[in-house]
Amino acid sequence: MYGKIKAHLQKELKSLMEAGLYKKERIIVSPQDAEIEVEGGHRVLNFCANNYLGLSNHPSLIRAAREGMDTHGFGMSSVRFICGTQDLHKKLEAGIADFFGTEDTILYAACFDANGGVFEPLFSQEDAIISDSLNHASIIDGVRLCKAQRYRYRNADMEDLEEKLKEAMNQRFRVIVTDGVFSMDGNVAPMDKIDELAGKYDAMVMVDECHSAGVVGKTGRGVTELFNLRGKVDIITGTLGKAFGGAIGGFTTGRKEIIEILRQRSRPYLFSNSLPPAVVNAGIKMFEMMASTHELQDKLHRNTSYFLEKMKSAGFDIKPTRSAIIAVMLYDARLSQEFAARLLDEGIYVIGFYYPVVPKDQARIRLQISAAHEKSHLDKCLQAFEKVGRELGVIIPPAIG
Ligand SMILES: *Cc1c(COP(=O)(O)O)cnc(C)c1O
Repeated sequence: MYGKIKAHLQKELKSLMEAGLYKKERIIVSPQDAEIEVEGGHRVLNFCANNYLGLSNHPSLIRAAREGMDTHGFGMSSVRFICGTQDLHKKLEAGIADFFGTEDTILYAACFDANGGVFEPLFSQEDAIISDSLNHASIIDGVRLCKAQRYRYRNADMEDLEEKLKEAMNQRFRVIVTDGVFSMDGNVAPMDKIDELAGKYDAMVMVDECHSAGVVGKTGRGVTELFNLRGKVDIITGTLGKAFGGAIGGFTTGRKEIIEILRQRSRPYLFSNSLPPAVVNAGIKMFEMMASTHELQDKLHRNTSYFLEKMKSAGFDIKPTRSAIIAVMLYDARLSQEFAARLLDEGIYVIGFYYPVVPKDQARIRLQISAAHEKSHLDKCLQAFEKVGRELGVIIPPAIG
């Protein structure tokens, strides 16, 4: 009988709408790109995709995807260990390990699954997982599926982390878990300090590179490049759904024995379907591109510093960032929504975030810069920000004379 729960769900939905927390989906009718067409025929500049390298609609990847289907078919109809492993999967796993300088890689359907399936096979009651308070939902869920003792330290707060490590000294194994780049601020985890504390307190380190891989570091190798820790982080998880082409797919890469155990025991790997050949072959192509040039990273870094400088000199309040995420602080929830709506009228697509996605009174507009953005796109966005910023009294017009 659906009757009673139906009424209950209708009430829940109504209260979400009344609280302004109901998520609506905007319909895009073009490929993902710097410029997109939304339903109704409007073309807007996109500043809110995770398309950091502009690869989501890249001709070489589309070609590789087609070739993957021509030579290896459409779907696998199997999990990896039954009859779902092709040569392509092994090649992509090797390509990912080369990219990060790790020993081995295991693919998942998404990074949500990589994080969901990494803790339970490795840690039990006697162990400690020490996790940053701003870690991604998939890490939180993964930790919940495992019986290890849980510790939480304040975002990137190394004193607090050290406290928690001391508290966990009686446990058998300790692992420090952090996002590489935190998605709402754009700040980078202090991996150098984390590595130091891990050494001092005999802990392993796991980093989720979803927003940092491809983006951070001179050649885009992520936080291990930025902090000179290549090959030193025990577990790295990441996604093919952001900088790396934006389709779907996740991975865990790191120490050989860890990856081997995951192949034996990680539930999302054992009980969920293999990635399809189109996605895998495009992934192989993508990592070949990454190995041959870092032009896209150069452009992304140029774009980000240019945009950041201009926004700061226009008087906007920006969170300290070392990634391609730029959080323009507005503090007030209503203002963030009004600001984003006016930007859309100016042809700029961004999202205003407010509580509970970010802390109370910390509302903001989050911009994501891409290598697909040309200088004209950035300038159009800057002009729109300045116009709306002045109209809404967020920035003060420059004094005349
Ligand atoms: C996006 C994201 C994920 C999830 O990745 P999917 O491949 O989309 O499942 C996990 N962790 C972090 C930090 C992310 O930003």
